[in-house]
Amino acid sequence: MFQDWLNLYKQIRDVRTKKGDLICPECGSSSIDFQYVGDASERIGYLDMWCTTCNKGVHHSRVSIPADAPLISFDDPDEVLVARIPNFEQVTA
Ligand SMILES: [Zn+2]
Repeated sequence: MFQDWLNLYKQIRDVRTKKGDLICPECGSSSIDFQYVGDASERIGYLDMWCTTCNKGVHHSRVSIPADAPLISFDDPDEVLVARIPNFEQVTA
């Protein structure tokens, strides 16, 4: 299962992938959402990806953030993060 999340991560890294193309490895829904959080100038941070149907997801730390990917800055208030990323159940290897 975790391997499927890694494949999903590769899909997300591909700028041609649309959100609706991402299939949840846990429940099969096309309801994966993701968000980069990081340093806005260095564009280094982490990626959270989760399923809005079954509320499972994966946290990837220390990733580069593509130039065109929307990010939440470490400088943004916590409320921004809390409003954007749900408290999902983390799938681990
Ligand atoms: Zn799911």
